[in-house]
Amino acid sequence: CFDALHGALGDCSCNVDTIDYFNNVKIFPRIQSLVSKDYFRFYKVNLKKECPFWADDSRCAMKYCHIKTCSKDSVPGYVDEHENERPAEKYTKIDQTACSTDEDHNPDLGYLNMTISAASQYEIAKWNAHDSALENFCECDDRDADAEYVDLSLNPERYTGYKGPSAHRIWRSIYQENCFRPKLNPYESFPYVLSSDLSNMCLEKRVFYRAISGLHSSINIHLCSNYLLSEKGVDFAAPPEGEWGPNLEEFQRRFDPSQTHNEGPNWLKNLYFVYLLEMRALSKAGPYLETEEYFTGNPTEDEETRAAISNMLSVIYSFPDHFNESAMFNGGSQAAKLKNEFREHFWNISRIMDCVGCDKCKLWGKLQTQGLGTALKILFSSQWDSLEADPEQGTLPVRHKANKRLQRTEIVALFNAFARLSNSIRQLENFRIMLSANKEPE
Ligand code: FAD
Repeated sequence: CFDALHGALGDCSCNVDTIDYFNNVKIFPRIQSLVSKDYFRFYKVNLKKECPFWADDSRCAMKYCHIKTCSKDSVPGYVDEHENERPAEKYTKIDQTACSTDEDHNPDLGYLNMTISAASQYEIAKWNAHDSALENFCECDDRDADAEYVDLSLNPERYTGYKGPSAHRIWRSIYQENCFRPKLNPYESFPYVLSSDLSNMCLEKRVFYRAISGLHSSINIHLCSNYLLSEKGVDFAAPPEGEWGPNLEEFQRRFDPSQTHNEGPNWLKNLYFVYLLEMRALSKAGPYLETEEYFTGNPTEDEETRAAISNMLSVIYSFPDHFNESAMFNGGSQAAKLKNEFREHFWNISRIMDCVGCDKCKLWGKLQTQGLGTALKILFSSQWDSLEADPEQGTLPVRHKANKRLQRTEIVALFNAFARLSNSIRQLENFRIMLSANKEPE
């Protein structure tokens, strides 16, 4: 599968080899170290939501699907409560006097009635929630009563044994019902979508499919690179240990052209594609992300996190061939309609994640779709355009609560999702080395 994994990526001016070098040398070490920091390690998520599309068929009984949640006391700084209840004065450092020195020449005409009845305030809060939901590509469920913290470092994404009809129903439903499908695979079987059909689709629909397919590749690369090689020494009453590592055969089964109707290399290219997409979102939101506090309650740790963020973003800014999202959704009312469909389809995919029948797969599936959804929001909702148009904006008081553009959980998901893609590209290098070692004559 590596012979075909070179050269142009398509739908952008970038190529696979440039990304390989840039990721493996520059991004990978930085992002892995960043997501091990406390701010990024704890993810709040509701894994108990009912599947909205069909009766949940399989609470996973496999021990490798099990996840460990955290009590609030083990989360540094009680992160989200702190965020919500931070005293207002901490945020109101804007110089009010500088705004009120200009006298209005005609106080009557200039008068604005700013009083709002309690009832309208309630309505406006509802409008705001509705409007911001319109800009969102997925549901945030960290405020749900059932949401719990998970320490990601204790629950690594790896082989779980989740497969068969339940896993296939999720993927089939994602590709067949929610992607802009070029046309049905006539055999109604695998692969769900043929890459040869993509050239007949418009850029926006192709981007959508490629992003989902890239995410699918990343998930499957993780299970191949962190495979259960042997169960020796596993105590069945205790959390699973065993021996974990790369499984080249499993990787080839999933991506070799001869075993995938020639699709494997395209699926791998889609991984690079979704990586580019998320990296562009980080670059675009960079001026804002650099002003976040990354609060955990430990000033030294927080300072280090901010420094690591700035350092990583400066490397990302230096990437020469960023994805160009401005080529998408141009063309009046049709484009606006398409954008809305794009958002609704992605929203559905994020809800399908509640139907995943393995808790660990669900955790990482939800995190990665939320990360990708956050990236799409940054790329395609108008509120983010102004940030980049005026880089000075990044230095304005965006820490002020009213200006807050991303929730903590979205930031955590965005960076962790990108870290997963980065790790997948790095793992491909390992498989490439293993494969060439296998080929060498005795
Ligand atoms: P599947 O991966 O189930 O794919 C089904 C079909 O889709 C394939 O036959 C092929 O035709 C097509 N396809 C495959 N890859 C692509 C691609 N990249 N792009 C387009 N089409 C493709 N298992 C784990 O062990 N650990 C996990 O953490 C894990 N997380 C998961 C998270 C989610 C959200 C889901 C839905 C599943 C997860 N799984 C996980 C299961 C795993 O993804 C596979 O479904 C499972 O291993 C069965 O693999 P399969 O070979 O039957 O093909």
